Amino acid sequence: MRITFIGTRANTKIRSKRHKRNASLMIYHNHKKIMLDCGFDWKGLVHKLKPDAILITHAHSDHVGGLDKKIKCPVFAIKETWEQIKNYKIPNQKIIEVEKPFLIEGIACQAFAVQHAVKTSTVGYKITINNSSIFYISDLVEIINPTEALKGISAYIGDGAFFTSHMLVRKEDGHKVGHSPIIDQLEWCKKYKVPKAYFTHCGSEIIRGKKYKEKLIAKYGKNIGVKTKVAYDGMRLLI
Ligand SMILES: [Zn+2]
Ligand SMILES: [Zn+2]
Repeated sequence: MRITFIGTRANTKIRSKRHKRNASLMIYHNHKKIMLDCGFDWKGLVHKLKPDAILITHAHSDHVGGLDKKIKCPVFAIKETWEQIKNYKIPNQKIIEVEKPFLIEGIACQAFAVQHAVKTSTVGYKITINNSSIFYISDLVEIINPTEALKGISAYIGDGAFFTSHMLVRKEDGHKVGHSPIIDQLEWCKKYKVPKAYFTHCGSEIIRGKKYKEKLIAKYGKNIGVKTKVAYDGMRLLI
């Protein structure tokens, strides 16, 4: 599987050359391109990127703000996301269901529910090409069904908003909201035997900490047995 991290920035005030644009991933397969998330930094740029499909994790503006009615390719999201962005008037809307597998251009996809925000339902995506799978989730507190979501994946691509601290994990009506720190996500990788982890959606802690922080995170992952790297805009991977 060939992927490019086209953007790796969370919804932060500061940005850097390494983390300039909103977190988004491009997956390439058989001359087709699938884009994961389309935040406001991508406004007006989608026609240049020419994705064959777009998958959306949730309706926060750093994930949907780049969508508009001129985008003709199919856009996939859960029903709750479509309700929140109905004003965008996307022409080619595809409704997906949590944990129900679907295919896009021969690529196997499956959405898994995660907790992230009280009013905004959020999913991560398990993407499989030729027996190799990744799980992509840029914003989360926890995966509802981690056993299935992380089973057999080669790489976890997670939320880089915080390294050791929490933005908070507040509980409202029993819901946890916010962003889990990288150290907790690495523990999940260890528990579910995921060999590699990449972190995107980088928060100000990583952006301000520059390469020093990225090295620290890589070292932390190595120590617990998960090959870890902080992604940067333009980083390409073969998985
Ligand atoms: Zn976000
Ligand atoms: Zn969010």
